[in-house]
Amino acid sequence: MPAQETNPAHPGKISRAKEMHSPETILLKDYRPKSIYKIPVTQIDKAKFPIIDMHSHPYAKTAKEIEEWVKNMDEVGVQKTVILTMATGAEFDEIYRKYSKYPERFEMWCGFDLTGYNKPGFGPAAVKELERCRQMGARGVGEIHDKGGGLVSGKSKAPGMHPDDARMDALLEKCGELGMPISLHVADPIWMYQKMDKTNDGLMNAYLWRLDNKPNIVSLSGMIDIFERTLAKHRKTMFIACHFANLDYDLARLGEALERNPNLYADISARYAETAPIPRFASKFYEKYADRLVYGTDMGVEKPMYRVTFRILESLDEHFYEIEQFDYHWSLNGFGLSDEILKQVYYSNATKLLAAHTDHAG
Ligand SMILES: [Zn+2]
Repeated sequence: MPAQETNPAHPGKISRAKEMHSPETILLKDYRPKSIYKIPVTQIDKAKFPIIDMHSHPYAKTAKEIEEWVKNMDEVGVQKTVILTMATGAEFDEIYRKYSKYPERFEMWCGFDLTGYNKPGFGPAAVKELERCRQMGARGVGEIHDKGGGLVSGKSKAPGMHPDDARMDALLEKCGELGMPISLHVADPIWMYQKMDKTNDGLMNAYLWRLDNKPNIVSLSGMIDIFERTLAKHRKTMFIACHFANLDYDLARLGEALERNPNLYADISARYAETAPIPRFASKFYEKYADRLVYGTDMGVEKPMYRVTFRILESLDEHFYEIEQFDYHWSLNGFGLSDEILKQVYYSNATKLLAAHTDHAG
């Protein structure tokens, strides 16, 4: 090593900085390409039509943060945000109260209390807590996760119990009775299951969230089968598949599920970067299932975040990078969705789902 590059105090620091800039040693995670193309760049500050965001979480913790969030929502054109609390009991009540200053701007959904799921007699207490949350103001349920190891609702976990399990029947039926849609996250993106090697298309994110080292979980396709059995079992309950049911890599498979199951919607949250590399196929999918897809974010409260989603949905921009937002090295493209589709995905499909509970409100 040449003398001027040697720093006895911080030798590692210097060589790391050098590696980051040398084309011989640059790592994928440090790669920050800039588009070379002189083509249109669309800046969309506010969505073309009003939005109901069907997938968010209680990111804002204080009254001041909630106020700032509402201001951001006003500026970007989000009329209402559904807060998936995943919580029950005192935890749900506290979040509910925090956001109660803006009943027109936030809708609160609760979780499931899965306590005692592996003991005889599970069911009635969980149903009772659901009814209590409904009374308190919960309008739906979510986000309930099953990444293959069993159901998870925030801190409440049921390893080994999947949504099609008979033990879940009473709860899922009750949701239908109460007009509470369920936001259900099944599986995870496909590259998390694949080998962590040079062929992995989503390596930058896949390695961080890897599932390939968890051999005992149900596979992605296994979880889709479980989801479809659940949908068939509970036809009067509305379900929203979070993140395209993690079938963003195989939208045709999601299309089949949507066609077979009239009680299924899908949210598009946190899968913008995963669909923007295939703009022609993705926009055809939006066109075909425009009445079954709902807008969602799941990515915080900041204005630039919302604006990236508008650019992808509304513009026809090509080959742009949003690495800081999404952590993928891919370039993205806009879908240029029609006004008619945008209105459905941004708003009118969500109003149909949210209307379910007002029909049942007692
Ligand atoms: Zn989420």
